[in-house]
Amino acid sequence: LKLAFDPAANEAFWSAIRTIPGFPVDDEIRLRKMIFESDAIFRLPSLLRDDFHGSGERLLMVMDATPMRRGSADLKPLVLKLLRQAGLEVEPVVLQPDGSGQVHTTLAHIETVKTRLSNDALVLSVGSGVVTDITKHACYLYESENAVKIPYVVYQTANSVSAYTSNWAPVFVNGIKRSLPSRYPDMLVCDLETLRDAPREMTLAGAGDMLAIYVSLLDWYLAHRLGMDSSYSGLAQALVGPLLEILQEYAEAILHPTLDGMAILAKLITLGGLAMSLTHATTPMSGYEHVISHILDLINEKQHQPLTQHGLQVALSTIIGVEVYQTFLREFIPENVSIEACYPSADKMRNRILKELAQIDPSGAAGEECWTEYAMKLEKWHANRAELMGFLADWPDIQRKLLSMTCSAGKLARLLKKLGAPVKFDQLNPPLVAWQVKYAFMNAPLMRKRFTLGDLLLFTNWDREALWEHAWGKTQGTH
Ligand SMILES: [Zn+2]
Repeated sequence: LKLAFDPAANEAFWSAIRTIPGFPVDDEIRLRKMIFESDAIFRLPSLLRDDFHGSGERLLMVMDATPMRRGSADLKPLVLKLLRQAGLEVEPVVLQPDGSGQVHTTLAHIETVKTRLSNDALVLSVGSGVVTDITKHACYLYESENAVKIPYVVYQTANSVSAYTSNWAPVFVNGIKRSLPSRYPDMLVCDLETLRDAPREMTLAGAGDMLAIYVSLLDWYLAHRLGMDSSYSGLAQALVGPLLEILQEYAEAILHPTLDGMAILAKLITLGGLAMSLTHATTPMSGYEHVISHILDLINEKQHQPLTQHGLQVALSTIIGVEVYQTFLREFIPENVSIEACYPSADKMRNRILKELAQIDPSGAAGEECWTEYAMKLEKWHANRAELMGFLADWPDIQRKLLSMTCSAGKLARLLKKLGAPVKFDQLNPPLVAWQVKYAFMNAPLMRKRFTLGDLLLFTNWDREALWEHAWGKTQGTH
């Protein structure tokens, strides 16, 4: 088993994927070089100098204060030393954690980095998802405001999320995580020893985040067939290929990390990031399971708890989502849908959202933020009544297609076990309990404008309480 498309091939990679239907042939794609190599760290100075000669007068290195290891060395001081030994002047920019002890992707941090930028800057981020997102988005905003281009190089320190090659940035806006359009890096550097020595939890999270496709790609197709999303194509699916089978094959090399295992995972994550960038949407990699995860983050944030490792939380939300899909695909009967009852009024939904969100944010700010987005979805849903009729008529075809895209919850759980990852919410750090996950499951549809299975269940008045009991019992119970 190998990747259908290998991003390490660079030129050949780009020309191969250009032929896939859905590829945005008119896009300017700045990401030209992706390196997945043993000892890539020692090439970093020459990569920076050769590729950005003349443009980078000031080299800024953005990182957080977390110590990282590479073999017996301290990673960040090692990078600094290598760059300085090569005669590059480096200005370190260190992001400080908030009260929870973590750095989050907030507008305040983005602003901190942005104020350090100038037209002659060359920017290098050394970190995982959050540091990358903050730096990427600071560069993006600076470029938009000043109508210039500044080169940005990502040194990926963990196989933790698909943020590195995505031109989106998930940012906390009024306490709610939103995906904002951002930019590609110009170069991605994966030093396999750095990835191997990253905390195991982060590596597992990267694999876990990718599993989302067994829900998110279905949600995307569902939204497409209901007239709720016009961006659908087969590009994302083609890029990630037989993900589950590849992860199964490399499970051992990820659990006891080898350089080969780290390279394959880094490439899969890269492909996931590109799937989002190239379709101009995070939708292929982020459906119902991600909204559940975002609500769990919101709950932790409001309780001033540290956030659970994103990808581990997503993997478990995916297991629930997959079970819900299996039930839906088995039990949905188009003839039983009462069309008239599928269209709640704006007033009714606004009240419901404000009331539900007040449970976790009594200030009302989160509720208002959610309603702003939800209102757009509801309006579109009302306007697309004819599409629902077509959907019901075509159900056997749609059902077949969706069944071919998902897998069983048991298969995902077995893979996680093989990887040594948590399979239950109470094994996460911090642990999550049933009421929190249930709250997220029930209210996820209320949070974003993106349409998922959660919305269809809500609009068609599915017995979601019973569905929850079933999915929780089957995936998290002791039997
Ligand atoms: Zn994710």
